[in-house]
Amino acid sequence: MSARFIVADIDEVLAVVDRASSEVVAFYASELRAFELARLLDVFSPTSKQLEALLDDRRMLRTITLQHEGVCRRCGRPMSVGSRARWNKSLRLVRHVRSCPAGEGNNCRRTPSARRVSSRGAGTASTKSRGVHE
Ligand SMILES: [Zn+2]
Repeated sequence: MSARFIVADIDEVLAVVDRASSEVVAFYASELRAFELARLLDVFSPTSKQLEALLDDRRMLRTITLQHEGVCRRCGRPMSVGSRARWNKSLRLVRHVRSCPAGEGNNCRRTPSARRVSSRGAGTASTKSRGVHE
């Protein structure tokens, strides 16, 4: 039995991934919630539009146009103003939409130093990869 929605650990954050589209549909700080959502979505088997409506809350990743420079959480590369990015407000997470080098095999691993700088640069005290509260 293979599930369509799976939970993957992406850079210390748990992501629910839709294997039909290979899209990350949600990020959670809590393992339990991530697995609950994955199981729920498997039962629902939503269309992509239903999925979008269902997941339209603050925990979800949205595709935005960057107003400020950012650093991709996944590959650690800088992202310029005006580029499209996936964004999660509660986790203050930014990453490439589809063209993330880290997504194409494992040839580009993020650099720990870049990530450290980025999380500090994001500013507020609430920015800790594991310590995000809801
Ligand atoms: Zn990236």
